[in-house]
Amino acid sequence: MRDVIVIGAGPVGSFVASILSKKMDVVVIEKSPKVGHKACSGLVSTGLDRFVKVPKECIEHKVKGAVMHSPGGSDIKMVKKGTAAYVIDRPGFDRWMASKAGNVMFSTEAKAITAGKAGVEVRTNKGVLTSKVLIDCGGANSIGARKFGAKPTELLTGLTAIVSKPDNSDHVDMWYDSELNGGFFWKIPRGERTEYGMLGSKASFSQIEKFFRIKRYEKAAAPIPMGMVKTYYNRMLLMGDAACQVKPWSGGGVIYGFTAAQAAARVLEKGDFSEEGLKAYEDAWKEKLAKPITMGLMFREFYKEMDSKQLEMVFRKLKGTGLNSLDMDFPLFNNLPL
Ligand SMILES: Cc1cc2nc3c(=O)[nH]c(=O)nc-3n(C[C@H](O)[C@H](O)[C@H](O)COP(=O)(O)OP(=O)(O)OC[C@H]3O[C@@H](n4cnc5c(N)ncnc54)[C@H](O)[C@@H]3O)c2cc1C
Repeated sequence: MRDVIVIGAGPVGSFVASILSKKMDVVVIEKSPKVGHKACSGLVSTGLDRFVKVPKECIEHKVKGAVMHSPGGSDIKMVKKGTAAYVIDRPGFDRWMASKAGNVMFSTEAKAITAGKAGVEVRTNKGVLTSKVLIDCGGANSIGARKFGAKPTELLTGLTAIVSKPDNSDHVDMWYDSELNGGFFWKIPRGERTEYGMLGSKASFSQIEKFFRIKRYEKAAAPIPMGMVKTYYNRMLLMGDAACQVKPWSGGGVIYGFTAAQAAARVLEKGDFSEEGLKAYEDAWKEKLAKPITMGLMFREFYKEMDSKQLEMVFRKLKGTGLNSLDMDFPLFNNLPL
């Protein structure tokens, strides 16, 4: 029996395995023959440096901030002097992260999980694996989240449309509109390429084509879960997108998943894999992430309900109120004049 099985060699699964495998016997099982999230924009704040030193080859471009556009032109510019975020090549980053994860079994899919008093049994297409504890980092369609009914409150769709036109702009652009049912458009400069994207409950490529006036592009789509779910069970944890550890205002999940991974490592070291023992994991990640996630979810609810006049008013109020000091990962909602 191993110490830990991790489901999913996405960034979060690979990161938690890379920490744990220093002291424990860990195996990561990944259903795909290779890793590399194709839809993700890979826009990650420089806060990533606190977790890993990303190789230069994985960084396509760097940006200083973002401009939020309102329908009526009350734009909000949030740009720092130095680099605010990396535009990462996600497939390359995922491969690099998986190379740090230790023992990864590719083309191995978890089909069923059973947890008992002695350990966890994971039935896969390659036979049965056992461990003392299981971490499900299987993303938005995680088998563990489904088993325990840990359902996101919202399952949004994220779409990217990449064109080969070079874009070396120093900021990301985001467009909001009351007609978008809580969704938004974005443009991310990727150096050699330009990425157009949309997040929303009713996001579609036809909306991207119309809004950005593009016809030919490389497309990708994936679900983005949002909400607050229970993440600890007997001998089992949910982490990353599987645990809805996602920023509700942007859909970004890499930094939050890594934050939870570090919290888990500290708890698992203690060796108490009972449900009561693993509750410390949820307490630890929530200490850092519960406030921004809860406030972000509230923001989403307001945004979904606003008409165009109200949205314009909010943009006008936010403009010039020090919003440009906002942290991409941990915004100080307390400072906002709402
Ligand atoms: C369009 C779009 C743009 C985005 N842009 C950003 C961004 O700019 N910045 C950011 O931080 N985040 C972004 N995100 C979100 C980000 O992609 C996720 O938060 C991140 O990938 C979560 O990592 P993860 O490791 O939890 O899950 P995933 O990356 O989804 O990895 C899960 C892994 O588990 C594997 N798996 C699933 N089920 C099983 C199973 N049963 N058995 C074995 N393996 C399994 C999958 O094959 C996959 O490799 C974006 C998402 C989308 C859709």
